[in-house]
Amino acid sequence: MKNLTGNTLVIGAGGVSSAAVHKMAMNPQIFKKITLASRRKFKCEAIAEAVKKRTGVSIHTAEVDAMNVSAVVELIKGSGADLLVNLALPYQDLKLMDACLEAGIHYLDTANYEPEDEAKFEYHWQWAYQKRFAEAGLTAILGSGFDPGVTSVFATWLKKHKLDTISLIDVLDCNGGDNGKAFATNFNPEINIREVTADARHWENGDWVTSPAMTHKVAFDFPAVGTRNMYLMYHEELESLKTHFPEVKRARFWMTFGDAYINHVTVLQNIGMTSIEPVVHEGVEIVPLQFLKTVLPDPSDLGELTKGKTCIGDIATGQKDGKEHTFYIYNICDHEECYAEVGSQAVSYTTGVPAMIGAAQMITGTWLEPGVWNMEQLDPDGFMDMLNTQGLPWQVHELDGPVDF
Ligand code: NDP
Repeated sequence: MKNLTGNTLVIGAGGVSSAAVHKMAMNPQIFKKITLASRRKFKCEAIAEAVKKRTGVSIHTAEVDAMNVSAVVELIKGSGADLLVNLALPYQDLKLMDACLEAGIHYLDTANYEPEDEAKFEYHWQWAYQKRFAEAGLTAILGSGFDPGVTSVFATWLKKHKLDTISLIDVLDCNGGDNGKAFATNFNPEINIREVTADARHWENGDWVTSPAMTHKVAFDFPAVGTRNMYLMYHEELESLKTHFPEVKRARFWMTFGDAYINHVTVLQNIGMTSIEPVVHEGVEIVPLQFLKTVLPDPSDLGELTKGKTCIGDIATGQKDGKEHTFYIYNICDHEECYAEVGSQAVSYTTGVPAMIGAAQMITGTWLEPGVWNMEQLDPDGFMDMLNTQGLPWQVHELDGPVDF
């Protein structure tokens, strides 16, 4: 498989992008030229300045509306990039995939497409591009963050090296960090609140099981963090996991939240502030959740304030040579260490670093099969090696038996 040139265009200049672009600049042998473009150029310039200070690498910046396909195509052509890394918002995924097809370059993102007016978290819109990317000889990699992303690669690695089949899988996402704010989300508030207020859904015995948001709570003792309450939620990788591991009997996703976070979300929901239905306020139409995002702290400003660790991973049970085994595979990441290295807290870091690693797998030719791929469909080994060398080391331990929560 041919390598790419390493000339990369990144779209979006938020918390995740800042971490990813820093790590790209720290790997100049892979990322030969970086162009960073977003809706507001000053955000790109601020990241470029920080990257220059930390690494000495100069990156190019530009202003673009990712919803404007012809403007993105023009930018791609002007930059000469052969890979677009989408670190903007899920609403822009399809427009950016269209632009990649039109300009003839490869694509990678960290979150599945969502229509603005409906919180859906479904892959079918992007899977529908499979034929067009394959026929154009181009690759699109979906969901190269931590979850989805690393947790999906963890499952594939377990199936490649430790288990013949996986029957039960739980993705456990713990942020044991504290930013000292009464209420702040650790990535884009609009997307975060859409996720946590959606009904919980998990896959069991061939069907989705739905329950009201935030009603199924379990205390779990996380390595390096301690005991935290985690809540059953729907998360997009459940759809790709159950599709690409058809033998899975049960797949669930859990995320930790403190009581203060839950109380704030409950009140905001009760008073209508998390709604995505437009309302007319003093003659102007606004979406309450978008207004809420405007008044909440910007996650990319939380780096300096956040202390503590994250622990994210999978517990998977399956068979190897006819015997049942359960493994827990996870990464522990320290908020303050991330800030010292790239100026971001661990949630941006744990998403931005896998985006860089996924892009590196494409540039070096490891993940360049034409078509549209979820992370579970790709060979995990090179990605897993880079996690260890690029700041997200992982551990795997065998447990006594399946989890009983
Ligand atoms: P931010 O809101 O901090 O950043 C998003 C960036 O996209 C902003 O710079 C914003 O511009 C830019 N943007 C928005 N709309 C447009 C547009 N129309 N044209 C150009 N640029 C635009 O988000 P995060 O950095 O927290 O998250 C980035 C992505 O990562 C999201 O899709 C999120 O869902 C995903 N994510 C994935 C995770 C995973 O593990 N897989 C975990 C966490 C996040 P402006 O600055 O002008 O507002």
